[in-house]
Amino acid sequence: MLALELTVDSVAARTVGLGGRVYGEKRVARPRGRFSPEETIEDVTNLAAPLLTSLPDRHRLVGVGIAVAGVVRRSDGFVHLAPNLGWRDVPLREMAAAALGIDRVMLANEADLGALGEFRRGAGMGVGHLIYVAGEVGIGTGIILNGSPMLGSAGYAGEAGHNVINPGGHRCRCGAVGCWETEAGEEALARRAGIPEGMVGQALLDELRVRAGRGDRTTLEALDVIGRWLGMGIGNLINSFNPELIVIGGFHSELYPYLEDAVKRGAEESALDAPGRMARILRCELGVNAPLVGAAELVLEEVIANPAALASLDPGNWQPAMVSEENITRPASV
Ligand SMILES: [Zn+2]
Repeated sequence: MLALELTVDSVAARTVGLGGRVYGEKRVARPRGRFSPEETIEDVTNLAAPLLTSLPDRHRLVGVGIAVAGVVRRSDGFVHLAPNLGWRDVPLREMAAAALGIDRVMLANEADLGALGEFRRGAGMGVGHLIYVAGEVGIGTGIILNGSPMLGSAGYAGEAGHNVINPGGHRCRCGAVGCWETEAGEEALARRAGIPEGMVGQALLDELRVRAGRGDRTTLEALDVIGRWLGMGIGNLINSFNPELIVIGGFHSELYPYLEDAVKRGAEESALDAPGRMARILRCELGVNAPLVGAAELVLEEVIANPAALASLDPGNWQPAMVSEENITRPASV
């Protein structure tokens, strides 16, 4: 499988075999501004090409899974809206399939895939009800209920970043005021910490960690405020879904040691007693790569469900040895 992740801060590619084995991986930061779907597809194709050509002998690509920071319709890989990338109605599956020269391309929202990754191979293994919270520029959530992804009627569920949490807060890209992501996201934290506008992504994270590490009071207070807002939103999710586990991914996971107390305090404030006590809040285990792991799992699910379909893809190269039973690690909780 080729797993790709398209976010505002970076694009990443990883080649993954059965059992989640990683063959190669590359992530590159990208300048804000190079965001068009065409440029993005070009960037990831260039990123993926050396990984694919360096695969070991007798290995071939069976499918591509793509994690996108946006609202994605899984049935045809149509990106309805990716507000932070500035995309609307992009037939991304089609574009990626043409650029990569393979038909089996599957798209999903990155928070949903982060949830799947942590559920299959990270902090959520063996947990039936979990919510993955992925902060970057925005905040998305991936919800797994009773072992299955909760996607909504068209796959648009989990946009909890746009739940209004503070009507007196800042205006969001979506048009509303005081969305969860405008109060607890990357930009809110940078603003409160007094970091100059324009510092984003990894550079922002590094700066925040340096400042927090040396005990800078403004930064620590900003982390406390943002952590509490994050926790209050999590408490709302706990009330709505009664999860066993909340997994903190993305941007917030990188700063979690500084956020943890405030997050737990915020969640206690807003969650009801019984579901609040049941829900554990943990930092993700797979780090920034959780959506990539999930993107590979998305394809792997289909391969395992119907390995015979691979034969029809490219009979000339079909190598039945690839799916020998001993290579398959079945997730314990499925
Ligand atoms: Zn919003």
